Amino acid sequence: MRSHLLNDTTAEQYRRSVTEGVERVAARIATTDRPFTGVTVDALSPRIDGIDLDRPLHDTAAVLDELEDVYLRDAVYFHHPRYLAHLNCPVVIPAVLGEAVLSAVNSSLDTWDQSAGGTLIERKLIDWTTARIGLGPAADGVFTSGGTQSNLQALLLAREEAKPGRAGREAGGSLADLRIFASEVSHFSVKKSAKLLGLGPDAVVSIPVDHDKRMQTVALARELERCAKDGLVPMAVVATGGTTDFGSIDPLPEIAGLCEQYGVWMHVDAAYGCGLLASLKYRHRIDGIERADSVTVDYHKSFFQPVSSSAVLVRDAATLRHATYHAEYLNPRRMVQERIPNQVDKSLQTTRRFDALKLWMTLRVMGADGIGELFDEVCDLAAEGWKLLAADPRFDVVVEPSLSTLVFRHIPAAVTDPAEIDRANLYARKALFASGDAVVAGTKVAGRHYLKFTLLNPETTTADIAAVLDLIAGHAEQYLGDSLDRAS
Ligand SMILES: *Cc1c(COP(=O)(O)O)cnc(C)c1O
Repeated sequence: MRSHLLNDTTAEQYRRSVTEGVERVAARIATTDRPFTGVTVDALSPRIDGIDLDRPLHDTAAVLDELEDVYLRDAVYFHHPRYLAHLNCPVVIPAVLGEAVLSAVNSSLDTWDQSAGGTLIERKLIDWTTARIGLGPAADGVFTSGGTQSNLQALLLAREEAKPGRAGREAGGSLADLRIFASEVSHFSVKKSAKLLGLGPDAVVSIPVDHDKRMQTVALARELERCAKDGLVPMAVVATGGTTDFGSIDPLPEIAGLCEQYGVWMHVDAAYGCGLLASLKYRHRIDGIERADSVTVDYHKSFFQPVSSSAVLVRDAATLRHATYHAEYLNPRRMVQERIPNQVDKSLQTTRRFDALKLWMTLRVMGADGIGELFDEVCDLAAEGWKLLAADPRFDVVVEPSLSTLVFRHIPAAVTDPAEIDRANLYARKALFASGDAVVAGTKVAGRHYLKFTLLNPETTTADIAAVLDLIAGHAEQYLGDSLDRAS
């Protein structure tokens, strides 16, 4: 069994084995003609259930054959131009190469003595990102597992800074007095974080959005005023720099002004919109982000990186101390005096992947402009898609995109019952998924079912968008036809 350990005697086997796996994936990617096969849970489950994990095959090729059957053939492929559903991107090859390197070397970024250069590479990428944002000379941050964790950590820091009894705050209050302000279309991780942070059930104050799905700052000002009047503590405003559903960007400069006025921590959740930091054409759309106290970025959304690759950035490195604990077995306090950089001092995780390497390889091979160009392309594609939808009487489209998302629904000519229109759209999404011809997402707008394209693939064309719209209309009409048959 020792022959399976990667070491000096097995380097050749490692090369062969990984190459064999890469060949399979490459062959699969070269020949997938649909984003999905449409396989059902019922069809796939028995294949996986039928495998006895206590009876290994002892043969890599045989295991790869089996993997074709249980995973590779029926996976959902984000590189396909008709995958238009969630915030998943096709990945850039330098990052995939980075992934292969980081898992083989297997550095852990918690301490210097488990990573050495890895720690410095991560730090340099954090500095690169804070400079792109414009957070100033005292900024810092750390890589995380995703936007959810970044938001949690940012809100942890905000909570510690805002706790009753801290500088300038009245003592004697409780965590239940803390309030977070976020728009009604902010990410659900804000609410999850509030719960994990021990805040009360009313902690997250939902601020209405305008017609373009951007936070209404007049309403935010009103709620901040009310919070003060009620003797509660404003802990953080979460501005979203690209909402998950609409890609809408909250008015960051106005929000920053209010945060300064009321002395509130400003967090910008740019999990999606961070791609603008590399954009050549649309960087200005996220102006104001430089005034944040903390920022979430998901490189695995708009920097074309494999999952996971994400970071939380802060204006003031000192605030990261709220996540610092020392353990004799890992990062004893004396190491701080010895100036040994232990990233665990800044992280909610302990053992942690060297995800930063993927971004490093990407920037070194392609450069930031290369990434920005790709993101600009999908933003332009969304603008074209919006024109198609706005001109097509079969569809109703919600907002003109600020990033790369389109939310719309099919409006059948002969139907006026809103519930029936909902069902037709739900049916169209399901039928499309079952066919595997395309994958689209869905959401609700004002209580009604809508469909969503999240465009993150520069290979997708307006012709793809037009073709998928035709497929959707076809499925919806089919449903309505069948529904008429059922009624008569
Ligand atoms: C995706 C997303 C998140 C969550 O990020 P994960 O990487 O999925 O954990 C948070 N906020 C916004 C706005 C997002 O779009």
